[in-house]
Amino acid sequence: MQGTRSNKNKKIRNPKIFHGVNPEFGPCPSCGEKGVLKRSRPRTAWERIVKTITPFGYYRCKKCGWRGPILKYVMTRESAKNLFLYFIYALITALIVKFVITKFIMK
Ligand SMILES: [Zn+2]
Repeated sequence: MQGTRSNKNKKIRNPKIFHGVNPEFGPCPSCGEKGVLKRSRPRTAWERIVKTITPFGYYRCKKCGWRGPILKYVMTRESAKNLFLYFIYALITALIVKFVITKFIMK
Protein backbone atom coordinates (compact mmCIF):
# COMPACT_ATOMS: atom_id res chain seq x y z
CA MET A 1 0.00 0.00 0.00
CA GLN A 2 2.84 2.40 0.69
CA GLY A 3 5.40 1.75 -2.02
CA THR A 4 3.65 2.19 -5.37
CA ARG A 5 1.20 4.79 -4.07
CA SER A 6 3.76 7.32 -2.96
CA ASN A 7 5.47 7.03 -6.32
CA LYS A 8 2.29 7.90 -8.14
CA ASN A 9 1.58 10.85 -5.89
CA LYS A 10 4.95 12.30 -6.75
CA LYS A 11 4.10 12.35 -10.43
CA ILE A 12 0.72 13.99 -9.96
CA ARG A 13 2.23 16.91 -8.12
CA ASN A 14 2.81 19.35 -10.95
CA PRO A 15 2.60 22.86 -9.57
CA LYS A 16 3.57 25.04 -12.51
CA ILE A 17 3.54 24.52 -16.24
CA PHE A 18 4.85 27.93 -17.15
CA HIS A 19 7.57 29.97 -15.59
CA GLY A 20 7.14 33.57 -16.53
CA VAL A 21 10.19 35.27 -17.94
CA ASN A 22 10.72 38.76 -19.21
CA PRO A 23 12.28 38.71 -22.68
CA GLU A 24 13.31 42.33 -22.19
CA PHE A 25 16.19 41.06 -20.10
CA GLY A 26 17.12 38.36 -22.59
CA PRO A 27 19.32 38.59 -25.66
CA CYS A 28 18.06 39.83 -29.02
CA PRO A 29 17.55 36.89 -31.43
CA SER A 30 19.12 38.90 -34.22
CA CYS A 31 22.14 40.73 -32.82
CA GLY A 32 22.50 38.92 -29.48
CA GLU A 33 22.67 42.13 -27.46
CA LYS A 34 21.14 41.91 -23.99
CA GLY A 35 18.65 44.36 -22.52
CA VAL A 36 17.74 46.01 -25.82
CA LEU A 37 14.34 44.39 -26.41
CA LYS A 38 11.20 46.44 -25.94
CA ARG A 39 7.64 45.19 -26.00
CA SER A 40 5.97 46.00 -29.30
CA ARG A 41 2.28 46.36 -29.95
CA PRO A 42 0.72 43.87 -32.35
CA ARG A 43 0.27 45.62 -35.69
CA THR A 44 -2.08 43.25 -37.48
CA ALA A 45 -5.04 41.08 -36.50
CA TRP A 46 -2.84 38.06 -37.02
CA GLU A 47 -0.23 39.32 -34.53
CA ARG A 48 -2.97 40.07 -32.03
CA ILE A 49 -4.23 36.49 -32.33
CA VAL A 50 -0.72 35.11 -31.88
CA LYS A 51 -0.25 37.27 -28.81
CA THR A 52 -3.59 36.19 -27.33
CA ILE A 53 -3.61 32.43 -27.83
CA THR A 54 0.09 31.63 -27.69
CA PRO A 55 2.68 32.44 -25.01
CA PHE A 56 4.48 34.62 -27.53
CA GLY A 57 4.73 38.37 -27.36
CA TYR A 58 5.99 40.81 -29.96
CA TYR A 59 9.25 42.55 -29.20
CA ARG A 60 11.48 45.00 -30.96
CA CYS A 61 15.23 45.42 -30.68
CA LYS A 62 16.34 48.96 -29.98
CA LYS A 63 19.78 48.29 -31.38
CA CYS A 64 19.34 46.46 -34.69
CA GLY A 65 15.64 47.08 -35.34
CA TRP A 66 14.67 43.41 -35.28
CA ARG A 67 11.03 42.77 -34.47
CA GLY A 68 9.23 39.51 -33.91
CA PRO A 69 7.54 37.09 -31.53
CA ILE A 70 9.43 35.85 -28.48
CA LEU A 71 8.33 33.22 -25.98
CA LYS A 72 7.37 34.89 -22.72
CA TYR A 73 7.35 31.70 -20.69
CA VAL A 74 9.74 28.88 -20.01
CA MET A 75 8.33 25.43 -19.55
CA THR A 76 9.36 22.74 -17.15
CA ARG A 77 10.62 19.49 -18.56
CA GLU A 78 7.65 17.41 -17.32
CA SER A 79 5.13 19.64 -18.96
CA ALA A 80 6.98 19.98 -22.27
CA LYS A 81 5.02 17.17 -23.88
CA ASN A 82 1.62 18.52 -22.85
CA LEU A 83 2.67 21.95 -23.89
CA PHE A 84 3.75 20.73 -27.29
CA LEU A 85 0.24 19.35 -27.83
CA TYR A 86 -1.22 22.63 -26.65
CA PHE A 87 0.87 24.49 -29.20
CA ILE A 88 -0.32 22.20 -31.97
CA TYR A 89 -3.94 22.88 -31.02
CA ALA A 90 -3.26 26.59 -30.74
CA LEU A 91 -1.56 26.60 -34.11
CA ILE A 92 -4.44 24.80 -35.78
CA THR A 93 -6.91 27.20 -34.18
CA ALA A 94 -4.81 30.16 -35.28
CA LEU A 95 -4.63 28.87 -38.85
CA ILE A 96 -8.40 28.43 -38.95
CA VAL A 97 -8.95 31.93 -37.58
CA LYS A 98 -6.45 33.34 -40.07
CA PHE A 99 -8.21 31.54 -42.88
CA VAL A 100 -11.57 32.98 -41.80
CA ILE A 101 -10.10 36.48 -41.48
CA THR A 102 -8.42 36.43 -44.89
CA LYS A 103 -11.49 34.99 -46.53
CA PHE A 104 -14.23 37.16 -45.02
CA ILE A 105 -12.63 40.32 -43.70
CA MET A 106 -9.71 41.09 -46.01
CA LYS A 107 -11.80 41.05 -49.17
ZN1 LIG B 1 19.07 43.24 -32.03
